[in-house]
Amino acid sequence: MKNWAGNVEYSTQDIRHPASTAEVSAIVVDAGASGGQVKALGSRHSFSTIADSVGTLVALDELAIEPSLQFGDDGVAVSVRVGAGSTYAQVGAFLAARDLALPNLASLPHISVGGAIQTGTHGSGVRNGSLASSVLALEIVRGSGEVEIVREHDPDFAASVVGLGAVGIVTAVTLRVEPHFQISQYVHEGLSWRNALANWSAIMSSGYSVSVFTTFQGENTHQVWSKRRLDRDGPELDLAALGATEAKVALHPLPGVAANSVTGQLREPGPWNERLAHFRSEFQPSHGEEIQSEYLIPAEHAVAAIDALRAIGDRIAPLLHISELRSVAADTAWLSPSYARDSLAIHFTWKPLPAEILTVLPLVEHTLESFAPRPHWGKVSTMSPARLRRAYPRLDDFAAHVRRVDPAGRFENDYLKRVLPHD
Ligand SMILES: Cc1cc2nc3c(=O)[nH]c(=O)nc-3n(C[C@H](O)[C@H](O)[C@H](O)COP(=O)(O)OP(=O)(O)OC[C@H]3O[C@@H](n4cnc5c(N)ncnc54)[C@H](O)[C@@H]3O)c2cc1C
Repeated sequence: MKNWAGNVEYSTQDIRHPASTAEVSAIVVDAGASGGQVKALGSRHSFSTIADSVGTLVALDELAIEPSLQFGDDGVAVSVRVGAGSTYAQVGAFLAARDLALPNLASLPHISVGGAIQTGTHGSGVRNGSLASSVLALEIVRGSGEVEIVREHDPDFAASVVGLGAVGIVTAVTLRVEPHFQISQYVHEGLSWRNALANWSAIMSSGYSVSVFTTFQGENTHQVWSKRRLDRDGPELDLAALGATEAKVALHPLPGVAANSVTGQLREPGPWNERLAHFRSEFQPSHGEEIQSEYLIPAEHAVAAIDALRAIGDRIAPLLHISELRSVAADTAWLSPSYARDSLAIHFTWKPLPAEILTVLPLVEHTLESFAPRPHWGKVSTMSPARLRRAYPRLDDFAAHVRRVDPAGRFENDYLKRVLPHD
């Protein structure tokens, strides 16, 4: 079996689909009895080998955990407990039907909650943290088969919520919810880099969630996607006054690709769960003809980093479908790429040319080096363990935590052996 993009073939054919947390525990105990390894598998949307295993893969997609709401003393819903294998599309539909919302979504709603939070997956928005920052509690099956609940204020929480699948198999996740809100989404084309960079902070703060798409070539950005919250966002920044043109038809971020898969644009107000992701949940995205990489840098270096990447635009463009620039607010999860710093996320959607990509990534990483880039765990990077250690200040603490909660290395795989520091 392969990942969604087809660039990773899993090293095992032993893939289970347990229906209950008790079955997950039994699988982990069985694997332990034979000295084998075991790993949670989400919706297979990672591009790195993070989800691989030579032992048993445990997919959570058939886990029979129905979403359940928790209420405050005033009778208002404060959180929802969902099965970790649920997709954000499923959770979004459940919440929207009850007039509730999550604060943010990634670009694709088909991704599992467990897999997204474990890798620090994010959307955009200067005040929106990664998806893991909505987590209030995790139910985790440890290597012994025991089930542990780790809550927001527990000492282990910051090491567990973005846990790279290394701390156990998460069977249920409790997410903070808020009242339902509506979003109006629209796209501008042709914003010049000169005006974009002169007004960068204002542009990224001009909506609830803003994305700038680019190939890093030429004098203009490709598209600016603005997602405005109708209940909250203040006066709009006039991108037309900065020389951009508002699109009159719906647009896909990739030039020349039909827009039938994108969420509603053209300012048509819609529920949060049908606007915050770029792609519609009812549209089955094809098995990706793409590979992705992403690096998060401190937001204050945005303009300098973009300038540096534009200077190598001609080197990267031949391999690039498109890049996306987003904002992510700081959070507290040790391995979150936006840990303790408001960030600019610099994403690359590459053409499906794995060997060629491995030759250009060192150039990209070198270009970003002075901005202390943190690679996305679920995407492809060539950063050495030593550089990862510099980029992620709590990596040693995380590795020590993993040794404590998984002393037998039951959830280890080759990826973790490579990226985590050893004693
Ligand atoms: C088209 C596309 C769009 C994307 N858009 C975005 C985006 O907008 N923003 C962004 O940040 N990323 C994005 N990604 C990357 C994606 O969000 C991450 O790779 C994410 O980890 C994928 O989740 P998954 O459920 O597929 O996990 P998998 O790839 O299956 O697994 C990833 C890791 O999570 C672990 N894991 C999975 N489930 C559990 C569990 N229940 N318990 C413990 N560990 C678990 C696995 O062991 C593995 O280590 C995108 C990917 C694709 C293909």
